[in-house]
Amino acid sequence: MYDFDVIVVGAGNAALAAAVSAREHGASRVAVLEKAPKAQRGGNTFFSGAIFRFAYDNVGELDRFVPAVEQEYPGFHAGVEAYPKQAYRDDLMNVTQGRSDPELSQILIDSSYDTMCWLQDKGKMEFELAMSVIGVKVGNQVKWPKGAFVRIVHEGIGLSSSWFKTAEAHDVEIRYDSTALRLAQDETGRVSGVVVRGPDGIKTLTARAVVLGCGGFETNPEWRRRYLGEPWDHAKVRGSNFNYGDGLKMALDLGAMPWGHWGGCHATPINAAAPDYGIRKLTDKTNRLSYPYGVMINVEGKRWVDEAENFQSYTYAKYGGAIIKQTKSLVYQIFDSKVLHLLEPRYSTSEPFRADTLDGLVRQLNVDHKQALLTLEQFNAAAQHGGTFNPAVLDGLHTEDLDPPKTNWAQKLDTPPYVAYPVTGGITFTFGGLKITKEAQVVATDWKPMPGLYTCGEMVGGLFHYNYPLGTGLMSGAVFGRIAGRSAALA
Ligand SMILES: Cc1cc2nc3c(=O)[nH]c(=O)nc-3n(C[C@H](O)[C@H](O)[C@H](O)COP(=O)(O)OP(=O)(O)OC[C@H]3O[C@@H](n4cnc5c(N)ncnc54)[C@H](O)[C@@H]3O)c2cc1C
Repeated sequence: MYDFDVIVVGAGNAALAAAVSAREHGASRVAVLEKAPKAQRGGNTFFSGAIFRFAYDNVGELDRFVPAVEQEYPGFHAGVEAYPKQAYRDDLMNVTQGRSDPELSQILIDSSYDTMCWLQDKGKMEFELAMSVIGVKVGNQVKWPKGAFVRIVHEGIGLSSSWFKTAEAHDVEIRYDSTALRLAQDETGRVSGVVVRGPDGIKTLTARAVVLGCGGFETNPEWRRRYLGEPWDHAKVRGSNFNYGDGLKMALDLGAMPWGHWGGCHATPINAAAPDYGIRKLTDKTNRLSYPYGVMINVEGKRWVDEAENFQSYTYAKYGGAIIKQTKSLVYQIFDSKVLHLLEPRYSTSEPFRADTLDGLVRQLNVDHKQALLTLEQFNAAAQHGGTFNPAVLDGLHTEDLDPPKTNWAQKLDTPPYVAYPVTGGITFTFGGLKITKEAQVVATDWKPMPGLYTCGEMVGGLFHYNYPLGTGLMSGAVFGRIAGRSAALA
């Protein structure tokens, strides 16, 4: 007799989706093991912006999530483009250089809309539009990019608390301060439980099936150095300080197959003065994602990337890494007053440097002043070709004869006051994970599914390589968490 039908390790979006799904599919005794104390529960999910990317064939399919939207944003239905599955696939494959696991990405995309409905119906989630992060106001109209602009009310805090409420309503037993140390196996090799360090010491809890949903290794400087290389061991962590790769280690120790881009991660431009780990009252407010409307210079005083090769939702997850690799992991985002109204409200959580001249601005920064001024003058000389500034579309307003170029929104910096925000890169989550079957069962290095072991969320390998399209982490967590819970219940 097992202690539980299903044990789920972790208490973020993926794990709680798995726990609720396991109950829904007939598991009567389901336990969730959360390493964190109750006051710090919920992993990265708590810190997230809670935006979900999902496919829809027409804008009317969004009505069930945001029924009052036309009153709040007149012209919404006329202005939003469809986001069919093929568009989602194209976005995912474009940013991952064609490397996203074809089988898993198909499951993710094909199940995305249905899983949103499940989050609403089963998870009791409430939704709104992510105006503060994604909507671009042009005159009286708001322009929404396709696919990823619906989020949970109260963002990650709302998502996390809704999941805990739903799990409790489904009689899932949640144990806090409970660190899974290793997996137990019976004589047949089946995973049969978890060795846990809890408030009462170390115990082995047995179960018919175990779901690992305990995140990546983004918090672990030793693993970051080992897999991502230098200088990632020094990176600031945007979210939870509990995700040390414990679940990955437990599974690898039993012969699970590493899968996906172990040298890759999601990292974004954040306030250089951000704390070392996410803090719960700021959640994701340290992000600095309006760089496409300005320029970024490094400590050498040079631009080194095209700030505007695409909308930020397709570049932000790789530019954090590009910034970390700069000298001192420090760069400055520079804007003139023409675009200040376009900066995300999150910029208000720090004070920029300000000046009435570009020279006066760069003199306040920790950069090579002469080179920085030259860079900005060369940028201005090369800017403003081939278009009219329009923040709602890829406007083609570009630089000429400049390396690196700026491909869109390349207005001159010519309207004082000028401002500069110091920015570093913050790691969000790691891409390396485990190979799974279509049923979210972990696969071993002999290419056989491991009896009794399932995984979901950040621990799933293969979906993300090099880069990531905004809103896909939570969608993947919900899709594969739901599948893993069902599979574990039926195991
Ligand atoms: C600031 C920020 C903003 C983000 N915004 C978005 C967004 O808008 N949209 C989006 O799609 N994604 C976003 N993400 C990414 C998203 O949050 C993650 O992809 C997602 O939350 C991962 O869910 P998960 O359940 O796999 O892991 P987590 O939510 O991190 O949960 C892991 C859980 O495992 C627990 N745990 C770890 N080790 C153990 C152990 N040994 N024993 C027991 N428990 C353990 C942790 O305490 C935690 O409860 C954001 C992330 C951050 C940090």
